[in-house]
Amino acid sequence: MGLAAGIQEHRFVRLPDLKEAGDIHSASLVGRPHVYIPGRNGIFYSWAASYAEEADADLIVGGHNKDDVKLFEDASSKFFLLLQQAIWAGSPTLRKRRTRIILPLSEMTKAEVVKLASSLKVPLGLTWSCHHGGRDHCWECEGCRARVAAFGRAGVSDPLRTTVSSGKIQ
Ligand SMILES: [Zn+2]
Repeated sequence: MGLAAGIQEHRFVRLPDLKEAGDIHSASLVGRPHVYIPGRNGIFYSWAASYAEEADADLIVGGHNKDDVKLFEDASSKFFLLLQQAIWAGSPTLRKRRTRIILPLSEMTKAEVVKLASSLKVPLGLTWSCHHGGRDHCWECEGCRARVAAFGRAGVSDPLRTTVSSGKIQ
């Protein structure tokens, strides 16, 4: 997707020690969504701020949607307001540059995002929703189920689900 979107540099960051709540056996995480990762967005956006400083970026763009905000407090506007302040407090360069975190999809549901993307002719077949690695979506995890539901609500055909795979349509 990075190349299709004209991204100048696509950098992969490995964070192998991060685990989902479903893989952590702790009483303090009971009741949390299975896919909740403690400290996830604090870690991701702190890393992004470090990279933004290195790359002289004006913006840090997050792809959270309204559905994420319902499930995860670290996707809320309150969290990002405080994180923005922390990033500026910790980096004179980003503060002086006024580098901002923006969340252009945060007021839209996942289905509305799919509808918008379809209308903009985004190559949705190049997007990834699965929580697992690999070559293909598993179509069983939380991310895959949310994708199927969102495409269905949006009334948009998912190019990944209409691809003929092993002789049948998924
Ligand atoms: Zn999956």
